[in-house]
Amino acid sequence: MSGIYLHIPFCKHKCTYCDFTSFPNRLGYAEAYMACLYKEIEMRGKELENVVFDTVYFGGGTPSVIDPSYIYGAMKQIKKCLRLSKDPEITIEMNPGTVTPEKIATYKRAGIDRFSIGLQTAIDAQLEEIGRIHTVRDYLYCTSLLRGENFSADVMLGLKGQTEEDVRKTIEIAVGSGASHVSMYALTPEDGTPIYTDYLNGELPDGDEVRKLYDFGYALLKEKGFLRYEVSNFCKKGFESRHNLNYWRRGEYIGFGVSASSFFFGRRFTNTFDLDEYMKCILSGFLPVVENEKVEEKDAKFEFVMLALRTAEGISAKKYREAFGSEWKEDFAAPYRKNRQYFDEEDDATRIKDEYLYVQNQILIGFME
Ligand code: SF4
Repeated sequence: MSGIYLHIPFCKHKCTYCDFTSFPNRLGYAEAYMACLYKEIEMRGKELENVVFDTVYFGGGTPSVIDPSYIYGAMKQIKKCLRLSKDPEITIEMNPGTVTPEKIATYKRAGIDRFSIGLQTAIDAQLEEIGRIHTVRDYLYCTSLLRGENFSADVMLGLKGQTEEDVRKTIEIAVGSGASHVSMYALTPEDGTPIYTDYLNGELPDGDEVRKLYDFGYALLKEKGFLRYEVSNFCKKGFESRHNLNYWRRGEYIGFGVSASSFFFGRRFTNTFDLDEYMKCILSGFLPVVENEKVEEKDAKFEFVMLALRTAEGISAKKYREAFGSEWKEDFAAPYRKNRQYFDEEDDATRIKDEYLYVQNQILIGFME
């Protein structure tokens, strides 16, 4: 399976925790940028002509902030230059403060069949504190336009003053609005973002407090019939994100746009993070790749193990054998033995036990040595 990622780097306003490649003051560049994105898709067309793509993902930034005709145009260009499977999953990220019925209608005409909505929290004061441009009411309006559609809601943990009651309210609103998928992830305060100062001042919940919020949220989602299929991702049966599953299964994907990364032909490569440089490269007829490296077998094996252990399906010994011609328990004999008490083992599969999945990073450190 292979995926397509398109990065739309525009936002109305920068959130206080945001470390993504997004430009709040450059919406006026959307037309020129999207023209470059279409060109980049065309430039990659020849080398990818034999690949059938099963997923498309518009991420950002805020894809829903630009005129929806650009999204429609991108899908048209993909269909012209690349090959899609018969039933692709096509997702767009949306900020509830930017959505209109016309936009949703255009997305659907473009073939989009999955929507990922940044709710983050159902407490308006917290939304304002982290610089989100929307309210809970905007979220409810947005989801009222998506009745009967497949959509996901993002929930953020580790906000200043956040309580279990806040998490309960957020999950109840997400699930009550009809979301079939919830991404519940912990805020990572990155150096250089405004929220980092709050972190340094000790104003954010610490690791143990976030873990408690996560355990609380996990139990509530479980009670509501959501399965955890990856450490931060939960869904009703059959509503896993195919696009993300492909990442965790080390499937290939091609990224278009500024800062987009790709994994194809055994190489990982990344586009420039500079918007002007991106457009200059494309307009001069060059691919805007700034990093490009072959994944050596040792690293590929580690990636396989690391990504698989994030998921509820765990490591498949058979798939590892098919990929590398060896046994993962032999290749990683020492860390496997050392961490065995954290694993559930069943026939072909090895998974991190349910109660340890949230702290899997600590287990994985042993596999890096
Ligand atoms: S909407 Fe998303 S990409 Fe844009 S500033 Fe906020 S967190 Fe960053």
